[in-house]
Amino acid sequence: MSSSNCDILIQGGGPVGLACAAWTLQKFPDASITLLDRNPVNDIDLANTDNRGIALSHGSKILLNTIRAWPKESAQIHQVHVSQAGRFGRALMKREELKQEALGHIIRYRDIHITLRQALRVLQATSPNFVWKHIHKETEENQIHSKCIVHAEGGLFKNQDWVESGRDYSQSALVGLVEVENAAPHQAWERFTAEGPLAALPSHYGPNILNLVWCGSPESSQYRLQLNDADFLSELQKEFGSRIGYFLKVQDRRLYDLGLNYRKEITKDNQVWIGNAAQTLHPVAGQGLNLGLRDAFLLAEKLVEIFSGSAEDQSPAKIHHALQSYAQSRKADRTTTIGLTDFMARVFTSNLAPVVLARSIALSALQWLPPIKTALARQMMFGRR
Ligand SMILES: Cc1cc2nc3c(=O)[nH]c(=O)nc-3n(C[C@H](O)[C@H](O)[C@H](O)COP(=O)(O)OP(=O)(O)OC[C@H]3O[C@@H](n4cnc5c(N)ncnc54)[C@H](O)[C@@H]3O)c2cc1C
Repeated sequence: MSSSNCDILIQGGGPVGLACAAWTLQKFPDASITLLDRNPVNDIDLANTDNRGIALSHGSKILLNTIRAWPKESAQIHQVHVSQAGRFGRALMKREELKQEALGHIIRYRDIHITLRQALRVLQATSPNFVWKHIHKETEENQIHSKCIVHAEGGLFKNQDWVESGRDYSQSALVGLVEVENAAPHQAWERFTAEGPLAALPSHYGPNILNLVWCGSPESSQYRLQLNDADFLSELQKEFGSRIGYFLKVQDRRLYDLGLNYRKEITKDNQVWIGNAAQTLHPVAGQGLNLGLRDAFLLAEKLVEIFSGSAEDQSPAKIHHALQSYAQSRKADRTTTIGLTDFMARVFTSNLAPVVLARSIALSALQWLPPIKTALARQMMFGRR
C-alpha cells in the first residue's frame, strides 16, 4: 500500500473526531485533513449499533448547531428530581430557575453519530484536501505521515488499550428503555441507591418511554440483565417506589463497565488527545461527550490557527508549542468536570454513616440555596470557561 501525507491526521470517527474535523473544515475549508474511521461507510449499518440515551447540555446544542449537527429526534429535560433511596434529602432543579429552554436534551448515541457524519459530508463537498478514510486494521494508520496527530479513538472503560490515572468504581451501568404509566413529561429522575445512581430520563419516543441508566455492582447488574422482564420491572419499582409511576415494559437492556481513566498530559510532541481518548468518565453527571465536544471545538480553533498560517508556524516546535497552549486552555474545564464527576460517583455510592448524612444535608442545601444549585447546573450545562 502506498503512503500518503497530510497536515492533520484525526484517528477516530466517533462523535468527537467527526466534530473536530467538521469545525476545522468549517472555518478552514482548505485544511489538509485525513480522518481515519473504523465504522462502516453507510449510516444504515450504524442504525442499530448504540441506542443508549445520552444527555447533552444546552452548551453542546449551541456548539452542534454551528455545523447543523443537532439531531432531529431529541427529548428536552425541563426538571430534574434528585433523591436518595431510604434517606432524607432531595433536590428539584427546574429550567425556569436557570432561565433556559431546557436543562438538557436526551438523544440516542447513534443519532448524534449519524447527524455528525451527515454534517461532515456536507462540509466535505467544499473541502478539497479532506480525505475520509474507512479502515479495518491498524497497519493502514501507519502508512500516513502527518504534521499533527489528533487521537479521538474514544472507547469504553476497560476496553481501552491505555490505562493512566483514574479509578475502577467496580460498577456497571445497565441501560435500556422502560415504559411508565402516566410519566410526567420532560422530567428526569436521578436516585442515589446503596449500589450507585439510578436515572430515568425522557426519550423522544414520547412521555411514557424513559431511558434507564441503572448503576450497580457488576454482580447485581449481571443478575438484573438476566432477569425476565416481569422480575426486572418489579426490582426497578422497588428501587424507585411509586413516585415516578408504574413500570410496564422494558427493552434493549445492555451493560457497560464504569470507571475513570484520564491522561494527565493530553499532548506529546505533535500528538493531542481529545474526548474519551483523553478522559473516560462515569456517566453519573452525563458529562463525557459534553466535555469531549468542548475539547473538539477548541482544538479545531487551534488547528485552524496553526495550519492557516505560514509554513513557519508549522514547524514541529511551533506545532508542539501551539498544542501545549491548547492543553493549557483545557485544564480548568477538564479538572473541574473530571473532579466533579469522580466526586459524585464516589460520594453518592458510599454507605459510611457520616457520608450518608453529609449527602442528605447537601441535597437539602441544594434545594434551599439556589445560588449553589444554579452554579452546579451551569457548570454541567456549559463547562468551565
Ligand atoms: C452508559 C453510558 C452513558 C453515558 N451517558 C452520557 C451522557 O448522558 N452524556 C454525556 O455527555 N456522555 C455520556 N457518556 C459518555 C459518552 O458516551 C462518551 O464520552 C462519548 O461517546 C465519547 O465520544 P468519542 O468520540 O470520544 O469516543 P467514542 O464514542 O468511543 O468513539 C470513538 C470512535 O473511534 C473509533 N476508533 C477506535 N480506535 C480507532 C482507530 N485506531 N482508528 C480509527 N478509529 C478508531 C471507534 O470505532 C469509535 O467509533 C456515557 C457513557 C456510557 C458508557
